[in-house]
Amino acid sequence: MSATVAIIGRPNVGKSTLFNRLVGKRLALVDDTPGVTRDRREGEGRIAHLEFSVIDTAGLEDADVGSLEGRMRAQTEEAMRLADVTLFVIDARAGITPLDEHFADVVRKTDVPVILVANKSEGRASDAGYYESFGLGLGEPVPISAEHGQGIYDLGDALRPFVEEAELEDSALENSSEEEDVEYEAGSVDKPLRIAVVGRPNAGKSTLINHILGEERLLTGPEAGITRDSISVDLVWREKYLKLFDTAGMRRKARVNEKLEKLSVSDGIRAIKFAELVVVVLDATIPFEKQDLQIIELVAREGRAVVIALNKWDLVEDRDTAWRELREEATRLLNQIKGVTLVPISGLNGFGLDKLLQEIFDAHKIWNMRISTSRLNRWIDGVIAHHPPPAVAGKRIRIRYATQVKSRPPHFVLFASRPDKLPDSYLSYLSNSLRETFKMPGTPIRVSTRKGENPYARKKKR
Ligand code: GDP
Repeated sequence: MSATVAIIGRPNVGKSTLFNRLVGKRLALVDDTPGVTRDRREGEGRIAHLEFSVIDTAGLEDADVGSLEGRMRAQTEEAMRLADVTLFVIDARAGITPLDEHFADVVRKTDVPVILVANKSEGRASDAGYYESFGLGLGEPVPISAEHGQGIYDLGDALRPFVEEAELEDSALENSSEEEDVEYEAGSVDKPLRIAVVGRPNAGKSTLINHILGEERLLTGPEAGITRDSISVDLVWREKYLKLFDTAGMRRKARVNEKLEKLSVSDGIRAIKFAELVVVVLDATIPFEKQDLQIIELVAREGRAVVIALNKWDLVEDRDTAWRELREEATRLLNQIKGVTLVPISGLNGFGLDKLLQEIFDAHKIWNMRISTSRLNRWIDGVIAHHPPPAVAGKRIRIRYATQVKSRPPHFVLFASRPDKLPDSYLSYLSNSLRETFKMPGTPIRVSTRKGENPYARKKKR
């Protein structure tokens, strides 16, 4: 599937006209089910070579007036939930109304990137509204005329980075998720969290997995247990749905009668690619060996959420000292996943596994985090005020705009005047500041730079 673009805004700003302009004759789907209020239309949109799905919330205008605001809010939120990027449409001839402001508030509270669209911008009558719309705090508006087809290519330019990012993200997901028809206990609609357990040989992965599988309440699949060639297993462990990938313990259990077989590190690496979250198992009695660090490096590079299990904690004698040292070492060695959670466990006796599970879900949540563009720009303004980017050849590099282009892991793009001149040290300062400000310990966040103004900014044409 392609990127999804939602068109939102108060009634009569021209959402449907824009929708029709983008979708043209290719209107694919209109929900005509009798009795269902048509609050939303969807179609395949195109601007030049850029293709995307469009959701339009124009059906709202039929809603009865009393509940209009509430319904619009619900619809808008729903559309934004489905969208990779939102077009927030205003009527530049009418100017900004209280309802526009109300909407802008709704939009600012979500994490979806927003492009402000000043519609009906043909002719001079729209100038005042165009400038007024800056006050919404949603960035610089893209002036268009949906009806006359003006400014549509500019709109395409503004959309492109988001559409491309969403496509990238989609293709990554498609590559990593095999189709499986999985059933869960009644009542759950959750998808299982995809986990790989990796680590050096003898770190204790098999023991841990066997402990988990020994407790598990439900296994789906043709047999009770794991089929020999399955590469993953779905299970409910302590009331959570998990999909465990291709791990040593599974093989071992599957082949009880066969020669005990261990997976090599490269099998673990394959599992990382399928997983959302990776539990790196360290042997707490010999932690942070070279191979451990290589594995962690790889997990970070692949951008997976990560939790480190300090296994064999039952063998550790002076736990206070060990804990302190391990934490210090982690801080020193693991810069890419600064603040990563360490959980002392014993795969053998089950110590720490509740905590491990809790941390897995916390880390996964952070990994899924989305930060709104307005919030990010407040952050970048603050950062620049305190610690401005360095000057190069007497000219200060300007960072003009920040946005989060994707999550899983969080990926931020900074638009700067001369991005290639920003020193790595400054970028790492920014990543750390992002981590601290938005409380994202341990996630391998991405920060990249692009040249230019903010992506929405276009010279007003008339
Ligand atoms: P793997 O290669 O990572 O799968 O490691 P195994 O699970 O095969 O464990 C290697 C060795 O460490 C075995 O002898 C296990 O019994 C032992 N071991 C694993 N986990 C623990 C633990 O939590 N505590 C103790 N004391 N020994 C463990």
